[in-house]
Amino acid sequence: MDCIFCKIIKGEIPSYKIYEDEVVFAFLDINPDSVGHTLIIPKEHFKDLTSIDMKTLTHILDVAKSLKLRLEEKLNCDGLTLIQNNGLIQEVKHFHLHLKPYYKNKKDKSIEEVYELLK
Ligand code: AMP
Repeated sequence: MDCIFCKIIKGEIPSYKIYEDEVVFAFLDINPDSVGHTLIIPKEHFKDLTSIDMKTLTHILDVAKSLKLRLEEKLNCDGLTLIQNNGLIQEVKHFHLHLKPYYKNKKDKSIEEVYELLK
């Protein structure tokens, strides 16, 4: 299957990985909406919210809880939005949860700078 996120998990495409375990992989979004915009993906290929199983989904949420604390601590964000797109508005057809930090005062940092702070 020609899936860009499956290739990222296998290391065939580079990524700014900030977390990995046996079930999930988390990395910085290449085109961030805000400083620290992160994606959490399951290692197994599920297309969307309909096809993913509850055990994997729960694990993704567990990881989101701990990454939330890390983003708050390392980037000093003032809020965090979770988004998961399906259907026409889902660009990459491999389930992913967006973690988008919010800042009271707009912040600008390169993806490399963010990676250095989070890794
Ligand atoms: P969605 O619209 O929910 O499918 O969002 C897909 C997200 O994947 C977008 O925010 C893209 O910027 C991001 N994305 C696409 N390719 C890559 C990549 N190679 N590395 C990191 N993020 C990516």
